[in-house]
Amino acid sequence: MSGIMVILEQRADPAQREGRIARISWEALAAGQRLAAQLNLPISAVILGSETESLAAEIATRPVAKVLRVEHPLLAQYTPDGFTLALQQLIQTESPAYAVLPHTYQVRDYAPALAARLDQVLISDVVDISEGPIFTRQLMQGRLNGSYRHAGTGPCLVSVQAGAFRVEDSPATAPAAITTFTPTLDAAQIRTTPGQPFRGSSQTVDLGSAQLIVSVGRGIKEAENLSLVQELATALGAELAASRPICDNGWLPMERQVGSSGQTVAPKLYLAVGISGAIQHLVGMKGSQCIVAINKDPDAPIFEVADYGIVGDLFEVVPALTEAIRAARA
Ligand SMILES: Cc1cc2nc3c(=O)[nH]c(=O)nc-3n(C[C@H](O)[C@H](O)[C@H](O)COP(=O)(O)OP(=O)(O)OC[C@H]3O[C@@H](n4cnc5c(N)ncnc54)[C@H](O)[C@@H]3O)c2cc1C
Repeated sequence: MSGIMVILEQRADPAQREGRIARISWEALAAGQRLAAQLNLPISAVILGSETESLAAEIATRPVAKVLRVEHPLLAQYTPDGFTLALQQLIQTESPAYAVLPHTYQVRDYAPALAARLDQVLISDVVDISEGPIFTRQLMQGRLNGSYRHAGTGPCLVSVQAGAFRVEDSPATAPAAITTFTPTLDAAQIRTTPGQPFRGSSQTVDLGSAQLIVSVGRGIKEAENLSLVQELATALGAELAASRPICDNGWLPMERQVGSSGQTVAPKLYLAVGISGAIQHLVGMKGSQCIVAINKDPDAPIFEVADYGIVGDLFEVVPALTEAIRAARA
């Protein structure tokens, strides 16, 4: 067994973000770096596709020992069969101790099949890695934490939850070596025909990349009152997000919902306005660097995860805060 391998993923929407690595992939790299430091092993980064030169060059600027381009025309578009077969060959060749992946929809689609083909373990949706290494997963909608240790000989697959590992700015290093791995793939092995890649509308909100988020909950009472929080978000230069009831009511589009059935976010600032802090909401935002909560109930669960709390009526606090921010920025 040698080294830690991190498998990065391209952003899902090539129309808008061509040639870019999804943020959660850099978080997977951060998780891989933690593992590599603990085990004192070298780290390699993998990108799959066709014509991945520029992506590989971008990855090579990060602190990794080497970048592996898994190149094949049949990998130009994602298919579970193509990715599973290619990664099976790569992992069997490289024999890493751990292969770390971002817990994306794509990874959820192929990683169980990859683990089964390798006859290995997949520890999925990991939120922490401590000495051991011990992997933490959340159970029962985040009410319980489970600790997992890999007892086998590996390679062990580990997928990491969005927002769980912080991407640090890394000092500039000499670019890592890039090598190309060409898997043996035959079109007959690929049982699905990919359709057109998903292209979101230009209005699609990428809350996952937002640095500042103002999020509103049922405490706002009426759709007409949303302008209060919109003004606060505009003053801060923040994206507007919401808890589920706000989106269920159609007051804001579903793409702005944060939580277990919405988006997972990890901004620098998450300002929760009139949100109680139900577990299904917390799992989507507790990776935020700084959480500020405004709630009139001092016992609201949101205060358990908040770095700063304001106990008060949002209809008084929010306009005052907006004014203060505007004044500070004037
Ligand atoms: C399977 C499943 C999936 C779910 N997925 C999600 C999800 O993805 N995202 C999500 O958010 N929820 C989700 N939920 C719903 C979740 O359980 C909660 O019901 C929801 O998060 C509550 O939203 P809320 O905090 O806005 O409302 P409430 O729980 O009603 O809280 C409103 C808060 O506003 C405060 N408040 C009221 N008036 C004021 C005022 N004037 N000033 C200040 N504070 C005030 C109250 O004290 C209260 O704490 C899911 C539930 C299930 C069962």
